[in-house]
Amino acid sequence: MDEQSLSRRHFLKVSAVAGAAVALPSVGLAQTPFSGRLPKGRCRSVINADTLVVEGVGNIALLGTRGPVKDSPGYQKAVDAVVKYAAGKDVLLDQGPKPTQTGDGRFRAVVYYNEGGQWFNLNTKMLRAGLASAVNEPECHVDTADWVALVQEAKASKRGLYSMGLDLPETAEPIALAQARPGRVPGPAQPAADTGEPEWVPPYRRPYVRPEPETVQICYIGSITAKRFHRPTCLLVPRELDRVLFEGRLQALKNGYQPCLACRA
Ligand SMILES: [Zn+2]
Repeated sequence: MDEQSLSRRHFLKVSAVAGAAVALPSVGLAQTPFSGRLPKGRCRSVINADTLVVEGVGNIALLGTRGPVKDSPGYQKAVDAVVKYAAGKDVLLDQGPKPTQTGDGRFRAVVYYNEGGQWFNLNTKMLRAGLASAVNEPECHVDTADWVALVQEAKASKRGLYSMGLDLPETAEPIALAQARPGRVPGPAQPAADTGEPEWVPPYRRPYVRPEPETVQICYIGSITAKRFHRPTCLLVPRELDRVLFEGRLQALKNGYQPCLACRA
């Protein structure tokens, strides 16, 4: 991709972030704005090489990746990597503006794990490490088209499963998504008899209200290769696979990143 189309992509992304009144093309814009605020949850367990359980959210599928199937050679090595980065730790989830579920009930997300104040993309980490095949997800909030290059690089450098002489496919087909569940249709409103006193409901009959997951504000996005950090609205925000997220300037500076001069990060 040449520089012009790259910066055009950035421009489109940023205009969308700013909510600017710019007419956006309806096709070819897979990447939608980065909200800046991401839900955070504790990874309670790892189910397989591309699925983990996040407290308060549920089963999360690492979108854009497919790990080796259970009991196949290399499966344990891939699972061990997910356990190493996420199990028992807090992770951030980027599910896009409209969370989607796979047919087998997992929420699709880009998962970020923390290392010394830096939030790294676990999905692309698995591809880079030669531990998963790339999946080009259609209609996704993240542009996964260029993720296969990470697997090819891992293959050429004999990383991960390729180091074990295993023939991990470079790409895999996306999993079908679940149909959107119809919203609950409210029945006719029953006017409550006004007794002045709220009706007492025993604890076991009170409806369960799922607590909202905690969220983390991502104030800066760093480029891993350029070692610069930007405001999320900057025109020069790097592509997904070159990103590291920071909650504040301090974390970015501490990790050796320089502020971008264009956005005065
Ligand atoms: Zn910038």
